[in-house]
Order: sequence, then C-alpha cells, then structure tokens
Amino acid sequence: MPSFYYLLFCPSVRRILAAPLTPHENSGFVYALRFGYSYTFKIGQTKRPCCTRFAEHCRRCPSNGYTAERYLKCRYAKKTEQLVHALLREMGMQCTPTPCNDCGTHHHEFFNLPPEFDGDCIDDLLVFAKSVVEYIY
Ligand SMILES: [Zn+2]
Repeated sequence: MPSFYYLLFCPSVRRILAAPLTPHENSGFVYALRFGYSYTFKIGQTKRPCCTRFAEHCRRCPSNGYTAERYLKCRYAKKTEQLVHALLREMGMQCTPTPCNDCGTHHHEFFNLPPEFDGDCIDDLLVFAKSVVEYIY
C-alpha cells in the first residue's frame, strides 16, 4: 500500500492546497472508471448520481469500454478531484493526452495505474485526498 503523505510537499500539490475553494465548488462524488480490463482509469467528479455520469461517459466515448470501479462521497468534490489528479501526476501516472477516437477531445483525466495499484489503493487514495481537503477547508 503506497503512502501518499510525502506527496503533499510537492510544489504542484501545495499550490492546489493553498488556493481557496472556487465559488463553483460542490459536494458530490469523486469516482474512478476503468477502461475495460486495462490499467487505465478516468478519475472524475460529479454532483449528480454516479450512475448518471457513468452512463454519459459510456454514451459519449463507447470505445473506452468503461466499467465503474470506485467512488466516494465528498464535501468538496472539485478540490478533492484536483488533489487526486495532482497526486497521480506526481507519481508519474498521467497518460499523455491524445485525441479521443469517439469525442475528439484530449482527455486529461486519464491515468495509467500500475497493476499493484488495485481497488484498495484507489480507495485509499480517494479517502486520503478527501480527508486532506476536508481538514484544510
Ligand atoms: Zn472521448
């Protein structure tokens, strides 16, 4: 199980945690969707029910073959999502964004997690980020 604490000292992460919440902040869910049976994941947030958002992703980009993996209810879903993205980037797990075959956009929220980074690790990461954000704000 990786420890995420040391990542809080990275400048990119400190910048996020030093910035105030935006007026558009909302409570909701931070979620992880897996691409089929691969180790690529999309990490996102939504204030609506996760299954609604999940269905949208499946309609918009069907080639990705999303399967729902994990989600967590958060008081500050946007800041928590931002922190999760920053932590994964610092661990070198961000995918190089390429144009999506379905929707044509460059998805910046896709991450390649190593095989040992399993569902429990994703849970730990989401809970860690949520706890840090809710402690600070
Ligand atoms: Zn797409």
